Amino acid sequence: MYNLAILGGGPAGYTAAEKASKAGMEVVIFEQTALGGTCLNVGCIPTKTLLYSAKQYYNATHADKYGVKAENVSFDYAKIAQRKQKIVRKLVAGIKQKLNNEHCTVITGQASVVSRTDEKVVMTCNGEQYEAENLLICTGSTNFVPPIPGVKDNAAVWDSTAALAATELPQSMIIVGGGVIGMEFATLYHELGVHVTVIEAMPKILPNLDQDIVGILREKYEKAGIKILTSTKVMSLEGNKVTAQPEEGDAITLEAEHILISVGRRANLAGLEALTDLEINRGIVVDDFMKTNLSNVYAAGDVTNKIMLAHVASRQAEVAVDRMLKQIPVQRIAYNAIPSVVYTNPEIASVGITEDVMDCEVRKIPMTFSGRFVAENEGETGMCKMLIDKKTQSVMGVHMIGNPCSEFIAAASFAVRMGYTVPEFQQVVFPHPTVSEILKEIL
Ligand code: NAD
Repeated sequence: MYNLAILGGGPAGYTAAEKASKAGMEVVIFEQTALGGTCLNVGCIPTKTLLYSAKQYYNATHADKYGVKAENVSFDYAKIAQRKQKIVRKLVAGIKQKLNNEHCTVITGQASVVSRTDEKVVMTCNGEQYEAENLLICTGSTNFVPPIPGVKDNAAVWDSTAALAATELPQSMIIVGGGVIGMEFATLYHELGVHVTVIEAMPKILPNLDQDIVGILREKYEKAGIKILTSTKVMSLEGNKVTAQPEEGDAITLEAEHILISVGRRANLAGLEALTDLEINRGIVVDDFMKTNLSNVYAAGDVTNKIMLAHVASRQAEVAVDRMLKQIPVQRIAYNAIPSVVYTNPEIASVGITEDVMDCEVRKIPMTFSGRFVAENEGETGMCKMLIDKKTQSVMGVHMIGNPCSEFIAAASFAVRMGYTVPEFQQVVFPHPTVSEILKEIL
């Protein structure tokens, strides 16, 4: 009997497998497609690889502002897509190697739960049975298919997985949903010369982010030619035609070669049917230590529907394993200090609360207060915003737009996580000249 069975080999699953094995547990991990899960195979890594190629092309075609002449710049999308696959293969192999090194049993196949008691969980995969003392569910999420007439079985419709699999670029693209996936794909396609329209039901794109910051992105993207329709609901599709209803005025019909549907993701609960008493509310309900209502069943990652981010998934997995190992005290996840990045160009990075959550002191400066930013971001202004608790002077939130803020948002997360006050954060020395110095400037 194994000490731990893990269902799903994404960031939550493989992190837990490695950590539990290192701690001496006998671990079996089941993965139906490839280790690395959505993030590595059809999410974070392939998108960032494609976006990097798009950025290279964009920078070459806009090199003039840096005094560089690049003529007849072109790209080969098939080659860009091939490189993406090479990167994915390499990273998947790396995870496989890590798990082998830790002597984890890795089973490729679609596993499901057969039965459970407080003593053991019985699983089946590829016709074999496996028993474990504990189960950690890390089955992730899948793209949500909205019940919009004409979406299902429509060859013109892509989800993010189909868009990543394409080896040719469309001429034009309608993106339904101006959330994180929608805006990252809008960036990719726009930078490679595709005509992009984004349709978002809410009044704002990226509605959960700081809206001063998002406003800067929207203005830049609209100026560059991306059409953004907000407060507009997609009502139906017919082939490559989309009918949408703005909040005011008549319905509109738009047409594009492909339509990307990016309206959120849903927890993947397949294979868990035998756990009839498992508490589910959109995702698997867990306590602060990732334990479900069943004594030996834990869950981590997107399947818990808490925050669907790979780095949250891996932290949740660590906490789940600590709890199983009865590490005292198990450190709770600092949900108030989770950084998030949107890989638009410029990038957006944030951590902590937004202004609508509590009445804070709000400081705002342009990113041009950093010399390095000015040197490397011709024509850009950017913004860094910090929210400070009026009573305690603690740093509660940081929101930035400007490259490469994704690379140093972790410093702000650290400050929020540790509850640094402004005078404490002021004592941190930032290397000069770096864009990260903006965090010092704003203090
Ligand atoms: P999302 O929830 O971020 O955005 C979906 C958007 O679609 C929302 O703004 C919503 O208002 C809109 N929408 C819903 N129905 C609509 C309709 N009928 N017409 C028009 N708009 C509609 O979801 P997502 O972008 O699909 O991303 C899924 C998950 O993956 C998120 O949790 C996201 O955080 C995560 N993700 C993260 C990253 C990153 O961290 N860089 C990248 C990609 C995905």
